[in-house]
Amino acid sequence: MVKLAEWRGKELFRRYGVPVPQGQVARSPDEAEELVRTGAVPLPCVVKAQVLAGGRGKGGAVRFANTPAEARAAAEATLGLDFKGETVKEILLEEKLAIGHEYYVSLTLDRNLRVPILIASAQGGVEIETVDDKAIDRQPVHPFPGLAAYEKRRAAKLFGLSGPTARSLDLLLDSLWRAFNQEDADLIEINPLALVGDRLIALDAKVVIEDDAVFRHPEYAEIRDDRTPLEEIAREKDIAFVQLSGNIGVIANGAGLTMATLDVLKEFGGDPGVFLDLGGTDDPKKVTEAFLLMAQAKPKAVFLNIFGGVTRCDTVATGLVEAMRQVPAADRFPLVARIRGNNEKEGIEILRAAGITATPGLKESAQAVVAAAQGRA
Ligand code: GDP
Ligand code: MN
Repeated sequence: MVKLAEWRGKELFRRYGVPVPQGQVARSPDEAEELVRTGAVPLPCVVKAQVLAGGRGKGGAVRFANTPAEARAAAEATLGLDFKGETVKEILLEEKLAIGHEYYVSLTLDRNLRVPILIASAQGGVEIETVDDKAIDRQPVHPFPGLAAYEKRRAAKLFGLSGPTARSLDLLLDSLWRAFNQEDADLIEINPLALVGDRLIALDAKVVIEDDAVFRHPEYAEIRDDRTPLEEIAREKDIAFVQLSGNIGVIANGAGLTMATLDVLKEFGGDPGVFLDLGGTDDPKKVTEAFLLMAQAKPKAVFLNIFGGVTRCDTVATGLVEAMRQVPAADRFPLVARIRGNNEKEGIEILRAAGITATPGLKESAQAVVAAAQGRA
């Protein structure tokens, strides 16, 4: 998932004609003060931490400033802050607007209905999860004609808007719909959508781009906001690699088996960390690259859970042994392999001959790797 920071989301809004406050991003207190002093950002202004987590308003990550000095102070208080596990590296400075009312509006894909839906609520400005379900309106949208006039009118009615303000909601929803489609978004959320006088302005922007469409959007390739450096390298090599906080590395083939393996390790008191999905590959070069990445993550032990289906266990085993040889001695990790399926006997023999603990039993191998990670083996 490519989640855009608020300021990127608002840049996107601007391109599609969704009204947003005048503002600019800053990465240092000096820069923040300068933006205000030169009038690039009008006073009074809002200083907002650019993190992907929500709840910034309540969490002290949205501040207000009336002077350049206050803008600097707000920047100093916010930059470098740890907000729900993310370090604040950027802040968005924007003109502070007088809010008449806060609404909620979003477009997202409904996976059950398999169509986009327009979600609207007159109770915006708070996390939508906390809003009473009865106050949330959901309208499925036909993907080909797009938002219909009556669907937009229903939203306007829900918001209690009429005249020019209802018309501007109509235009805004059209822009949102175009952005949703052309950007291959999974979610576009405006919360709050603020009524300022008789204008509607997006005070916040949450945009998530569908992963499978990212190849159509090279402009997002540079966004690595929520990837670790190793995950970034893995992505470039097209390896499915995710870093969690635990100390057991997991290598499996197929997303389902990988997830199930994490559960099994937890079940036996283990703490799975990095996991790596070999998918259908037994390409020795790719397996070696995957192992080298795993080594860099410095796991205490690695659990290899392979099901030999189309790829045979012996082919996989040969590749694994070769890959393990390529890992520098200093970076090698205790390896426990559970290998099942086509030619499993041959596979296990190849692994054992190379000094790797290998069995077809899930329980015993999971327990062995947990013990190894806890230094009991
Ligand atoms: P979130 O809490 O992380 O979703 O951050 P938001 O961008 O939604 O901002 C939280 C709250 O800050 C909003 O609901 C507003 O109440 C307030 N806020 C943000 N921008 C402005 C502004 O321009 N003027 C005023 N008065 N309040 C603002
Ligand atoms: Mn918000």
